Amino acid sequence: MSKTEKHEFQAEIAQLLEIVIHSLYTEKEIFVRELISNAADANEKLQFLQQTAGTEIFEADRALSIHVSTDETAKTFTIVDTGIGMTQAELVENLGTIAHSGSKAFLEQIKESKGDARLIGQFGVGFYAAFMAAESVTVSTRSYRPDAQGYVWTSDGKTGYEITPAENLERGTKIVLQLRDTEFASAFRIEEVIKKYSNFVSFPIELNGNPVNTIQPLWTKNRSEISDEDYTEFYKYIGHDVNGPQYRLHFNADAPLSIKAILFVPERNTELMTMSRQEGEVHLYCKRVLITAKAKGLFPEWLRFLKGVVDSEDLPLNISRETMQDSSLLRKINEVLTKRVLKWLEEESKDSDKYAKFFAQHGHCLKEGVATDWSHKEAIAKLLRFKSSHTEGDATTSLADYVSRMPEEHKEIYFLHAPDREAAEASPEFEVFRAKGWEVIFLEDPRDEFVLEHLHSFDGKTLVAAAKADIKLERPEDRSKGLSESQVEGLVAFLKATFGERVSEVRASERLVGSPAVVREADGGMNANMRRMMKMMGKEDSLGLAAKPEFELNPDHGIIAGLEQLRHSDEGLARQLAGQLLDNAMVSAGLIEDPRAVFARLNHLLEKLIPVKS
Ligand code: ADP
Ligand code: MG
Repeated sequence: MSKTEKHEFQAEIAQLLEIVIHSLYTEKEIFVRELISNAADANEKLQFLQQTAGTEIFEADRALSIHVSTDETAKTFTIVDTGIGMTQAELVENLGTIAHSGSKAFLEQIKESKGDARLIGQFGVGFYAAFMAAESVTVSTRSYRPDAQGYVWTSDGKTGYEITPAENLERGTKIVLQLRDTEFASAFRIEEVIKKYSNFVSFPIELNGNPVNTIQPLWTKNRSEISDEDYTEFYKYIGHDVNGPQYRLHFNADAPLSIKAILFVPERNTELMTMSRQEGEVHLYCKRVLITAKAKGLFPEWLRFLKGVVDSEDLPLNISRETMQDSSLLRKINEVLTKRVLKWLEEESKDSDKYAKFFAQHGHCLKEGVATDWSHKEAIAKLLRFKSSHTEGDATTSLADYVSRMPEEHKEIYFLHAPDREAAEASPEFEVFRAKGWEVIFLEDPRDEFVLEHLHSFDGKTLVAAAKADIKLERPEDRSKGLSESQVEGLVAFLKATFGERVSEVRASERLVGSPAVVREADGGMNANMRRMMKMMGKEDSLGLAAKPEFELNPDHGIIAGLEQLRHSDEGLARQLAGQLLDNAMVSAGLIEDPRAVFARLNHLLEKLIPVKS
């Protein structure tokens, strides 16, 4: 009855294996960490089942351990765990056919030049790291389910894999790697790698019969007993990272809930490399027993960059993973943790250079928090950083610092969206602020405008788009170039007639200095940025009406004075010039989605202004 089934690897996994097999020499050792981490996961899952009343477990008395052995003559590396094992269906699902969303993300990141195969574990495809060192891998496994069968899975990591039923297997999983060379068949080498990455596995690991790790979970120790290296190694183990963390927090709370937690912020946010959303990686324990790995609901989504462990004695041990998901207890833990993390990040933000690095990596998550988490948005807003007219180059400011610099008569927080600092400083909207010496926040990412509009106010000050700000300048003393009141009236009427439906209002501006004209987005409509974002998200249907802008002219500008004269001498040309001024202002405000449209008129004008002499 032992019938071998042949399976092909799904295309993405085959591609992934191709890369893994050709990984760099220095990356190969990572397979040890990944296989040990899977063995520990399998043991932790069994430990959880042992606590769950009514679960029948095959070989219930078998101790939870991890055994590693090496054989230099046979060129093999073997790892055995006594965890939950896998059924045939689980073998197929976990080791080969069903798309792991992680495999695609990993492929994308590794194709980027920055790709580092050592990060493989972060993408949920760590098992395949075995093929970095092995020419073939054999997995013998027996599920904890009393009525399950044993199976052997083998593969050369190229074409596919085979699954054969096997008799008399013990509970758990045994993985044998037929190595390509003897390096990883050396006990010394393996011991070195285990010590490097897996010192914190909470089950005894034996190497060729000798214990190699310390097994007390780190978070149950006193902070004074833990060295910086301990924390860093622990992070590298749970975070599948090769670098240490950027920030760490070890805290214990007794009230309102008993919580022990060690949390880390990684140096890099993988979302920036892969463009795909990452999963939070904080594991939930109760009295050292793993309840849920990567526990959903433990933190709000916008804190998904955190890695670490949370142990709460208040959780009922026999709670099922499903009911855990929506329990009110989990919500309480979430609230306590979120508050603590916000406080932690605020403390860390005092070292502003280091914090700038943090914000460059994880800032997009915080912004998402402001836009989506009503109850914490004020607290998160304190953690945001922006470029502004006060900062230089890439330096940023907090909203609190902005507020502290506001002069008495400056009442609101102003922000301006432009592709970069130069464009922001050159834009007509900025003129009035420069003239007054008031600071403006510069937003380069169109989504930031959305975030600030959503935040609405900070420290009691309303956040206002510069284009909508209601601020006036005194007209200059020297009005030699300027138009008189009656000239302004006449020109405004002429422009209204000329622009017709394109604008909702024409008026003399009280806030322009160096530009002839500006358009202001009227309130109510969807602004240009929002419309662009909706289009980017493919939501053409929900595009609101573009609000008709208001046109403001600068009565003290030479072009405007010239236009007033021109409309009496050559009305046709004056209309064309007026149309061009409106186009220019619209482009500058980002209200014309395709600026190419305005060039036809411009060329026509140029032709008139530069007549060919015959
Ligand atoms: P991850 O561990 O992030 O899920 P891996 O590629 O390392 O990704 O492992 C894939 C899956 O294979 C695991 O989620 C688990 O279900 C299964 N698996 C791997 N090794 C073992 C093992 N030793 N015992 C039981 N299941 C395992
Ligand atoms: Mg794994």
